[in-house]
Amino acid sequence: MNATIHDILYKYWGYRQFREKQEEIITSVLEGNDTLGLLPTGGGKSITFQVPAMLFDGIAIVITPLISLMKDQVDNLRQRHIKALYIHSGLRYTEIHNAIDKCIYGNYKFLYISPERLSSASFMDSLRLMKVSFLVVDEAHCISQWGYDFRPSYLKISSIRKIFPNIPVLALTASATKEVITDIIDKLEFRGNTVIRKSFRRENLSYIVRRTENKQERLINIIKKTTGSCIVYVRSRKKTKLIAEDLSIHGISADYYHAGLSNEEKQDKQDKWKNGTTQVIVATNAFGMGIDKPDVRVVTHLDVPNSIEEYYQEAGRAGRDSKRAYAVMLASPRDKSILLKRISETFPPKDTIKEIYVRLCNFLEISLGGGFDKLYEFNFNLFCTTFKYPASIASNALKILTQAQYIEYIEEVDTLSKILILANKRDLYDIKGITPRSDEILELILRNYTGLYADYVTIDELSIAYKFNIPLQDIYDTLIFLNKQHVIHYIPRRRTAYIYFPCSRVEPRHLEITKEVYEKGKERLEKRINSIIAYAENDSTCREKMILEYFGEKANDCNRCDICIEHKKKKNDNIQEIQEGILYMLSLKPRKMIEFIDTLSFNNDAIINQLRFLCDEGKILYADDIFTLK
Ligand code: ADP
Ligand code: MG
Repeated sequence: MNATIHDILYKYWGYRQFREKQEEIITSVLEGNDTLGLLPTGGGKSITFQVPAMLFDGIAIVITPLISLMKDQVDNLRQRHIKALYIHSGLRYTEIHNAIDKCIYGNYKFLYISPERLSSASFMDSLRLMKVSFLVVDEAHCISQWGYDFRPSYLKISSIRKIFPNIPVLALTASATKEVITDIIDKLEFRGNTVIRKSFRRENLSYIVRRTENKQERLINIIKKTTGSCIVYVRSRKKTKLIAEDLSIHGISADYYHAGLSNEEKQDKQDKWKNGTTQVIVATNAFGMGIDKPDVRVVTHLDVPNSIEEYYQEAGRAGRDSKRAYAVMLASPRDKSILLKRISETFPPKDTIKEIYVRLCNFLEISLGGGFDKLYEFNFNLFCTTFKYPASIASNALKILTQAQYIEYIEEVDTLSKILILANKRDLYDIKGITPRSDEILELILRNYTGLYADYVTIDELSIAYKFNIPLQDIYDTLIFLNKQHVIHYIPRRRTAYIYFPCSRVEPRHLEITKEVYEKGKERLEKRINSIIAYAENDSTCREKMILEYFGEKANDCNRCDICIEHKKKKNDNIQEIQEGILYMLSLKPRKMIEFIDTLSFNNDAIINQLRFLCDEGKILYADDIFTLK
């Protein structure tokens, strides 16, 4: 068996060796065990399900919450000539239908799905027709209310287990406290409790907390001392731009990034940062997932995140290349109250939540009793401006309604542009010559994409523009023009949010926000926030130890964080002072041991150690209970 998994690893991924614990996880799955794999971010979790999927007969179902990552992974597999597909709510009905057909008949190895698909009865029915090899639950902490990213739709995963009671499940996460681990095993109905974990220690990463009233000034100092790439995390989109501008004023090459930018902008900023043109990227937490840059030297947090899990994930983006790297949190005395305020913001009053539910239904034109199992496109900004809600309140209320399972709020899905050729092949030649530019662009598209006559194919205008050096606007204009001429059907890409209704609209008096969702949810958030406050305020315990113990790992002092270094320095300072004290006292006259102990204000053992050390070094002499200078 071992030879085979190594062969697969090399054949498809070109890697010669497994990383720590990958092989154990893979073997466990191949033996048919339900397995929970805990590897830190970047530890190589994907390989642990991709390799066994290639060996199993049938298709692996991969559940993952982030649509953008789903697409990346599928593209990545396809580049390796592995048949993979994804289904999420951003796809059109016919696309979903087609994908399902391919999964049933097409010999595919991977189907990635977003969890809200599991609420759809028709999807669940079609699953039954597939030959499913095993089930993968990526980001498995999403199944636990104790985790920082609970998604109720993850709870539906167990219903797949009922359809396929005999296939193994592999759950993966980079962040799991004891409660979360127990929850995953419980909610996924594990047979047995195989947990394979790699330590979350990061040998080359130093955790540092700096307390300051002036974070920006401190940040500039840190970056000026750094050669190499940095990430600076802040909480608001507005702030990303402000801080990046401030850094630029100080001669630092910096750019900003957040989820509200267009895809082109995001790609451009990412590329420049990745190839080192931009040194510093100032970003919200939207930056980082799926971005694989090994040589990040410093990750600085200007704002404290909501939990140790999130902090660990974001900080962990530094030093993937195993070279020295730093994770710096800048903390100010105001942070505590800011963090505590986030608790009440995250849980708006229940009446407000109910009001938002009613308005949402009206906004989407859903009548009482309607909406069941329907998906609605949702213009969040328009909703907020229509009813004058601050975005944070509306968004948090929608999240709570999601937790309470009245809706599923799916934030900002990017749909890609798609085209289908309407004219038949022969006619296409007649159409030629409408404009020279449109001929050229159509020709390029025909040469670079296949299957355009049969079905909608996603195209990427930006890469066409880039590859063939054509202005992007020309491509858009041409596609719109050809669309008007009915030569093609062109659906431009856009970003939109969705609301899915797992149950029909109810009357407000029947809308129940349970204790479990609201009061308990609030308690759990409080607990997480208190842990990160404790981390930021701590000035005595090793920082890595604190993080590892939070994840239920036994740990020793890391000897790298600022606390450990401070301790070491203190110890060294003390040694120096003790030695100087001893030598000074002896320069006055010979003395007994007790005199040093009475005079020098250090602990007895430390003094005795230094007396012994100075004797061994031959700097002082000891005879007849008396010390003398040599
Ligand atoms: P995770 O999901 O744990 O954060 P990924 O699965 O995204 O990590 O993997 C992170 C990176 O490590 C990817 O670029 C992946 O190709 C690489 N990687 C994974 N396993 C190996 C291996 N055995 N040898 C070399 N590189 C690997
Ligand atoms: Mg991953």
